[in-house]
This record gives sequence, C-alpha cells and structure tokens, in this order.
Amino acid sequence: MKIMKFGGTSVGTAEAIRQSARIMVGAYNEDPTDPPVAVVSAMGGITNLLLSHATSAASGDRQAGMDLYQVLLDRHLSTLHELVPDESLRTDAVEDIQQHIDRCVQLIDSVGVLRDLSPRAQDWIVSFGERLSSILMATTIQQLGVRSVPVESDHYLVTDGVFNGSTPLMDESRRKAQEVFAPIFAERTIPVVTGFFGASEAGVVTTLGRGGSDYAATILGALLDAKEVFIWTDVDGVLSADPRLVPDARTLPEISFAEAAELAYFGAKVIHPRTVQPAIEHGMAVWIKNTFNPSHPGTRIGPEPARNGSVKAITSINGVSVVTVEGAGLLGVAGVTARVFAAIGRSGFNVFMISQASSQQSLSFVVQGEDAPEVIRMLENEFELDLIRQRLLRIWEDPGVAVVAIVGAGMRGMPGVSGRLFMTLGDARINIVTIAQGSSELNISCVINESEIARAVPLLHEEFGLANP
Ligand code: ASP
Ligand code: MG
Repeated sequence: MKIMKFGGTSVGTAEAIRQSARIMVGAYNEDPTDPPVAVVSAMGGITNLLLSHATSAASGDRQAGMDLYQVLLDRHLSTLHELVPDESLRTDAVEDIQQHIDRCVQLIDSVGVLRDLSPRAQDWIVSFGERLSSILMATTIQQLGVRSVPVESDHYLVTDGVFNGSTPLMDESRRKAQEVFAPIFAERTIPVVTGFFGASEAGVVTTLGRGGSDYAATILGALLDAKEVFIWTDVDGVLSADPRLVPDARTLPEISFAEAAELAYFGAKVIHPRTVQPAIEHGMAVWIKNTFNPSHPGTRIGPEPARNGSVKAITSINGVSVVTVEGAGLLGVAGVTARVFAAIGRSGFNVFMISQASSQQSLSFVVQGEDAPEVIRMLENEFELDLIRQRLLRIWEDPGVAVVAIVGAGMRGMPGVSGRLFMTLGDARINIVTIAQGSSELNISCVINESEIARAVPLLHEEFGLANP
C-alpha cells in the first residue's frame, strides 16, 4: 500500500487539486485491489487564516467570525464548483463544507465571547482547514470516476493530548485505524485523510504542530503497514542548497533518514522534522515528489546507503541571534549550565546550536531572532539574584547573524572537512562568530554575519563540488 501526502500548494487551487486527484487515480489504477491512501494539508494559507481570525476574536474583534465565514465559504465552494461539474456529486459535499464552516465559526465566536484563545480551542479551530480540503479532494476523485471518501483523522489517530505538538499513541491508534480503514479498502475506495491532527483518548482534538501533515502521513503509513510514503509538494525534491542563493543547486536523488532530519531541522523546510521517525521504526521509504512535475524522480529518503559522498548539502538559517551567558568561572559551577537550559526548555523556544568554550567562561546558543528578547528575559529572571548580588554574570544578544551548515553522513570520520569549511570562509574574509559540530558528525555549523550568507552558501556549494558531483 502507498500513502500519498499532498501539501498546502498541492491542494491550494482547483487546478492543483485536479492534478493531485489525477495522481491518486493513476496510483489506484495500478492495482485497484490495494487502493492508495491520500493524506491532505489544508488549502495553502487557510491554517494561517484560521489562526489570525481566532487571534483577532480573542482580542475583541467581533467581526472575526463573520469575516472568516465568508472567506472560507467563498474559497472552498468556488473551488468545488470548478472541480465538480456533476451536481449530484456536489450536493453532499456542499452540505458537509457548510456544516464544518458553521462549526468552525461557532468556535471562533465563543473565543470572542471568552476573549481567550486557549491551546485547546486553537487546535480544534485550525483542524477545520484539513477537514475542508479532504472533502474537496475526495469529491474530485469521485468526479474522475473512482470511489473515494474523506476521513477525519480524529476518528483513528489517538494522541497523548499535548496541544500544538502531540505524539501518537501507536497501539491505540492501530486498533482504531483497522476499524476505520478496513471497510473502506474492502469497497476499493480511496480514503482522503486529514493530516495535521488527531484526538486524545478523551476525544479532545490536538494537532501535531505546524507543518505536521507530513508527520501524520508517516504515522498513518506505520499504522497501516505501508511500504512507501510519498510527500507530494511543489519542488522536485530535497536540494543541495537554497536555489535562491545557489542557482545551480541540484535535487539530491537519495539521502538517509538522519540526513533528512538534519536538513529538515536546518532550514531546508521540505519536511517536518519528525516525519522520518515512524519511517525509521517501520522500515518505510519516504519519497519527496513534485505534484507539478510528477515525472521527475524526486528524492528518496531511506536507510543510509552503503556508499556515501561526504558533504551533501549546504543549509542556512537567517534571522537568528546568538545569546551568550558569560560569567567569570561561574559556568564551571555545576548546575549553572543546567539552569540555563532548564529556563530555555520551559520557554519552549527552539535552540539551533550550542557552543561552550572549554574555559567554561561563556556559553552561547543560537535562537530565532524574534525569540531572543524573551529568552534573555527568562534567563535574567532565572539568574536575577546571581546577577545583582555578585555582578558575575552577563547575558547579551548578538542579533543579525545567520547559521550556515554543511550536512552529510559521509563526513563522519573524514578528516579535513571542517578545514575546508574554515578555509573557504576565511579566504573570502567571512568572519566566523561561533562554531558547532554535532557529535553525530552529520553537521558542522558556523554562525556568520547575516549579510555574508549570500556569498558563503554559493562558495561552500562550489568548494564541496555539489553542483556536479
Ligand atoms: N495545515 C497545517 C499547517 O499549515 C499542517 C500542514 O500543512 O502540514 O501547518
Ligand atoms: Mg508542509
């Protein structure tokens, strides 16, 4: 069995949905006794729209619900009309779409009354984007002559109940998935499943976090014992660098699970970082494919191949800040480092890299630029007494920097790779602020000035021969 996940752009317009539906029908015709399963994101932009209207409602905008009602209805019904000329197919879909939108707007209105957007309300509200797109896709497949039904994932995906970042409970989910999908497969019908969310054991809707539909697809693959998961998106695959910085960046034909996780984390936002987890545990291959260029072979993500080049890709993250905690000998005191990380951990902010000099005088880490002021505030709270009484600790931010990283499993145990990295940047007179190497040796990262990124990435791409390997 195949799982095919279609992202926001692949279901973003009538034309895109038609193209995605054709891909599903093509896969179905290969073997109708073993129907493929579609997992869909919300139409592009809809999740953000739901979030922004929920936020406005919470801050007292009484029009938020009504405005949203109109936008959701227009976008989904006009798309449906364009895709499904057959009125008898459309009737049920229109009714279902209307019911979902009514429910979603009711929720936004109650957020407005309470003036409070709880994580619970937020997760429930954003789940409607996928509920709506799954109806469009299933009805389009029906229009193409193949049986198809939308499936809402809170009917089978049981989560740990954590909002905006939940983890599936696999045993419970597996049991439910059998119940939900067995009758659908028996009828040779294509299920079109909502990505992004599930529900706790008590039935409360929780999402897997932003971009979580990729993860939903490999979870479902694991539950249904799929051999392959296809992530259909709007690029040919995972690239050797950001094409806006490196015009001759090329699609990588094959990368390992570990490399994919590293690349997902470091800026190449092709897949959600947790996507590979179920694939590793269940021995599935994950393909990245382009909905709008389906004959391109794409990128295969699988177990590490026997032979491996050294550096596979150059990644970069802009708009980050280095936060440094410096204390005269203080960081050597057991517990200070722990307190720094406990404070950041509680804040929930993402830390991209960490570096500590062996003198133990200072500890630096890289966070998203917009998170830096809050991170510093948290640390100042944590260390308030030490700071004031002893005047021993300084905490500051270096804004306007970027991380550039070289990534590849093949550089493990290969001497000289970091030397080439530093020489290349040094020869170009690009100053390195901080360095870190993952202990897995999959990644060497440098912090440099943001204004140097446009020079650094192409130079490294060239140095490691990534354009013509
Ligand atoms: N629609 C959700 C989001 O925009 C999930 C996804 O598309 O993966 O984050
Ligand atoms: Mg995505």
